[in-house]
Amino acid sequence: MSSELWAGVDDYLERTVAVDAAAFEPIRAAQAEGGLPDIAVSATQGKFLYLLASIARADRVLEIGTLGGYSTAWLARAVGPSGSVVTLEFAPEHAAVARASLDAAGIGDRVDIKVGAALDTLPFLEGPFDLVFIDADKANNRAYLDWALRLSVPGTVIVLDNVVRRLHDEGPDADGIRGALERLGSDPRLDSTALQTVGIKGWDGLAIAVVR
Ligand code: SAM
Repeated sequence: MSSELWAGVDDYLERTVAVDAAAFEPIRAAQAEGGLPDIAVSATQGKFLYLLASIARADRVLEIGTLGGYSTAWLARAVGPSGSVVTLEFAPEHAAVARASLDAAGIGDRVDIKVGAALDTLPFLEGPFDLVFIDADKANNRAYLDWALRLSVPGTVIVLDNVVRRLHDEGPDADGIRGALERLGSDPRLDSTALQTVGIKGWDGLAIAVVR
């Protein structure tokens, strides 16, 4: 199996199943035009996040790692006009692209972008959140998981992206990924699993947990 085949299947799935992803293509285009790295979730992954948040009947969502607002848009769509998404982004230039795209998509009013290092902005947030999506600097995944738990209630869904590709690397990112996965399996407050995925983004995976 080749990465071209995985990408082709993703393209097919986007056109046949996740058809409403087309509405958010301007967000992806604005990210590219703004020179942001091509590291947002794929369209089918974005739709998957939306469905998770919908299944959880999420009203308040926390995202760590905004980039240009692509996954944010899916989460904002899931919470609906009366819900809210707080999203944390270190780079002001990423946050500015996200702000413009979310406003242009007509969902900006339900998204609060907090600019700065997430570990500096997290202490000022008030929980609880119904879903937390962790997708920033992987070295801090353990600390982000701690914060997600602090800002949770029983039933809160926690999702961590990119938990597979760098699993066997050395260094702070891989340490952060492994540390968070170990915590997901050992913390009695969490009921967790992780899945390997392939697609347009290559081989990777995500972890999901529900707070008991
Ligand atoms: N969730 C986005 C999506 O799928 O559309 C992609 C997020 S991207 C993988 C990671 C983002 O986290 C980048 O925009 C990066 O600037 C941001 N980031 C990195 N370190 C951070 C930190 N310490 N605090 C907050 N954001 C950070």
